[in-house]
Amino acid sequence: MPTSENIRTSLIGLDREALKTALIAAGVSQKSVAMRVNQLWNWIYVHGARDFASMTNLAKDFRTLLENSFTLERPQIVTAQVSEDGTRKWLLKTGAGIEFETVYIPEEGRGTLCVSSQVGCTLNCRFCHTGTQKLVRNLNPDEILGQLLIAKDALDDWPSTAPGRKVTNIVMMGMGEPLYNFDNVKAALAIVMDGDALALSKRRVTLSTAGVVPMIARAGSEIGSSLAISLHAVRDEIRDAIVPINKKYPIAELIEACRTYPGASNARRITFEYVMLKGVNDSIADARALVKLVAGIPAKINLIPFNPWPGAPYECSDWSQIEKFAEIVNRAGYASPVRTPRGRDIMAACGQLKSESVKVSAAARAAREAGPVDPREQTKAASQSERPEGEAMDKIQSGQLARMPQ
Ligand code: SAH
Repeated sequence: MPTSENIRTSLIGLDREALKTALIAAGVSQKSVAMRVNQLWNWIYVHGARDFASMTNLAKDFRTLLENSFTLERPQIVTAQVSEDGTRKWLLKTGAGIEFETVYIPEEGRGTLCVSSQVGCTLNCRFCHTGTQKLVRNLNPDEILGQLLIAKDALDDWPSTAPGRKVTNIVMMGMGEPLYNFDNVKAALAIVMDGDALALSKRRVTLSTAGVVPMIARAGSEIGSSLAISLHAVRDEIRDAIVPINKKYPIAELIEACRTYPGASNARRITFEYVMLKGVNDSIADARALVKLVAGIPAKINLIPFNPWPGAPYECSDWSQIEKFAEIVNRAGYASPVRTPRGRDIMAACGQLKSESVKVSAAARAAREAGPVDPREQTKAASQSERPEGEAMDKIQSGQLARMPQ
């Protein structure tokens, strides 16, 4: 039975038009609705209001109307971890079996939030831990934005317009492929980049894709954020093996989409991410081929030391090899920062995110929500997730990762 709690509509993630429609349906007059939308927008996204009672400049009866129909609830925090290097990771939950992670990386003068777009992933990149978790479902706009709201709450980072903000950058580099959840990512990022809402400029918001080529131009014209490409190899036979989406959209098509990306310029370069895998893609010949491949594109190349995870079939390149590789890229005129691994001790570094959520059938989910779990369903669900085994799994269960969804 739905409770009065969960039939209230969340206002988080609605655009202004949808917010207006929701308010009118709840009884707000046409005459005052534009003003009400502005007031709510400001409370929710500039001040981070978590309930209607705190909106002190709104009339009491209007606040009561809001309370009766709507909610501003955040995702539930399942675990909050802090790395020895200050990186923070939250495991969040928005329903039975819907768990996802978000990571905050503080640096000198800036703080980056790494946001998830899906629970699990369909891409199966061989070096990526998230890739071992089957897709459960796309995250909704409120769940994508909820990650930022939770981080800002925890960091005491309101109002959004204050100087010295703690979350200064957003990267869509958490769990999932953002361009396979285009509409919801677009809706959430529009609010992130709205100057009257979370107010992060488009230069400070980066969407990373493994190469969903047909969506890249749309991302440029409709979302307008900065773009990062998970390139990771310069020859199709290697990229086919480590980033399987390459079989569908090979390197030449991907590079062509980057050449024509709307809004790319020397001031707004495309980032090419390149994970350093020992003996796989890290030769000097690969480095030379890489600079040839991106020639003519306003680009920077981000070398990512491979972050290990239990059962991963790769090793990180030797440091000396990473340096040689970076030097070639650098000498060709490209910035080639080596990404410092952050939060490895809490499995929060690039490619280490994963939750224990598994896709279950609607019937099994309903049964699970209604009462005691049928052990047969439990076995079925468990067998669908490819869990790392043995000692490594124990390590994860002892706190590096999530709990099983209840
Ligand atoms: N699906 C999107 C968003 C994920 S971004 C994409 O592929 O771009 C996460 C970044 O970390 C990607 O560049 C991904 O390829 C990289 N990555 C994945 N596993 C990694 C690992 N184990 N070590 C280092 N980087 C990894």
